[in-house]
Amino acid sequence: MAKGIQSIRGMHDILPDQTPAWQQLESTLQHLMQQYGYREIRMPVLEQTELFSRSIGDVTDIVEKEMYTFEDRNGDSLTLRPEGTASCVRAGIQHGLLFNQTQRLWYMGTMYRHERPQKGRYREFRQIGVETYGMPGPDVEAELILMSARLWKRLGLKQVRLELNTLGTAEERQQYRQQLIEFYQAHEEQLDEEAKSRLHSNPLRILDSKNPQVAALNTSAPSLMDALGEESRAHFDTLCELLRAAGVDYCINPKLVRGLDYYCHTVFEWITDELGAQGTICAGGRYDGLVEQLGGRATPAVGMAMGMDRLLALLEELGELTMPSAADIYVLALGADDEAAAMQCAEQLRDQMVDYKVQWHCGGGSLKSRFKKADKSGARYAVLIGGDEGQRGEVVIKPLRGGEQITVASDELAQRLTSYIQE
Ligand code: ATP
Ligand code: MG
Repeated sequence: MAKGIQSIRGMHDILPDQTPAWQQLESTLQHLMQQYGYREIRMPVLEQTELFSRSIGDVTDIVEKEMYTFEDRNGDSLTLRPEGTASCVRAGIQHGLLFNQTQRLWYMGTMYRHERPQKGRYREFRQIGVETYGMPGPDVEAELILMSARLWKRLGLKQVRLELNTLGTAEERQQYRQQLIEFYQAHEEQLDEEAKSRLHSNPLRILDSKNPQVAALNTSAPSLMDALGEESRAHFDTLCELLRAAGVDYCINPKLVRGLDYYCHTVFEWITDELGAQGTICAGGRYDGLVEQLGGRATPAVGMAMGMDRLLALLEELGELTMPSAADIYVLALGADDEAAAMQCAEQLRDQMVDYKVQWHCGGGSLKSRFKKADKSGARYAVLIGGDEGQRGEVVIKPLRGGEQITVASDELAQRLTSYIQE
């Protein structure tokens, strides 16, 4: 037998048993976005490579080692999007959505990163992203955090915590960067290879090292918070006040720096301990410099992205997922001559009971195997077409989850089924 072709490592099929959970999450998210007055934007999954190298930053995990980059037939370098923010800014500039106006946007879709696949970390994964433009203050940052807090509540998630930090302005960070380099140089013997390689290119990333020895050193590293000017501090304080007024708990984590270069002022992450090391389910922050960096006019911007695969894994872990069945009602013919009548009955039920799932038995088989399939469909009622009842203009409703079967007039079928199902 020929060897079967498998999906690409780290890229998963979402199977029919799993899609109901995805659909539920997607519709919850869409509804939430509408409630806050956000509008959807859809971007292509392929972009010019330059878009990502110019925005995300050359010395980041994503650009250094995670991008799916290849040459198009005409020689252009293209990349499968590793995240949505850069594409959203590109689209905003290209279509004049950003300058001198406010925008509240969201998108949902697949992202691609060539990482080592493991639980909660895939090469194709799905994110919902939220991006806002034209609002410079902490108010809109609070709004994004409230929106995500409402989502956790709606999904029944309690074990998530909010970590906050501020990165100040680019100038403040530049000064701080110098302090950090000096600090790490004085303790160079405690740095690992990764940290050493970042010492001059991106020393802030060393703060987020997972190596215990480096992490220990980091506890005595200078703090960015101390390097902030008055305005930056006031911005952050106001956000904290707004969150307190809204009753949202948070903890300030001075080591939270985010892996992307374009952030300034507020950064935040929602984290759970239920998913092991891959605990960040939502991350975001302010990125005022990016629009200008990508060729637009300077525009304040804040956004966040949620990993939907991780969100669903968490819901599954906590037993918050319910599995709907494929059918509510299963219509089957008792004899070969009754097929047309069964088909018409199913169609009529779909006219009359639009909110219910009606399956018509196709594929033939013995009566025994038909009942087996009816049972397997998950339906609560089978409708049997034909037999003596058929001759009399009647049909049999057979409860599949216990109970006596009953015979009803054909023209009362929909009405009777509806009242049984709603009982
Ligand atoms: P991590 O620290 O886990 O690598 P990140 O900082 O690279 O995450 P972001 O770029 O901020 O992640 O993406 C936002 C969210 O997307 C993450 O919080 C996570 O939930 C999800 N995510 C990121 N990478 C992956 C992946 N490879 N597989 C599944 N989900 C992912
Ligand atoms: Mg990552």
